[in-house]
Amino acid sequence: MATALLFATVVLVTAVVWAGRGIGRRRARAAIRRGPGASLAEAIAVSSFDTIDETIAARRCHCGAGVHAVGEGARDLDGRRFRYARVECDACEDEQVLYFDVTTIFH
Ligand SMILES: [Zn+2]
Repeated sequence: MATALLFATVVLVTAVVWAGRGIGRRRARAAIRRGPGASLAEAIAVSSFDTIDETIAARRCHCGAGVHAVGEGARDLDGRRFRYARVECDACEDEQVLYFDVTTIFH
């Protein structure tokens, strides 16, 4: 009886720890998908293209590893110019898109 109870407790604790880890990882992932550069509305304003490369080089994935660019593009919206870079994690291969406001470079 005592053994069964102990076993049940261990299973419960393991389940709670697992669930907690999952939530933590999801939060970290969600946090990195918001914030500067995560969308056109939050595009990082840069005054040179070098800054884009530097920002990508300094970027970290939610897992902690670095990222590298796998694609890029340009977009014009409401008279503003944007560049975006698709970056992939060096470790877990998770992809994210970083947006840059390059309007000032063309003025
Ligand atoms: Zn990663």
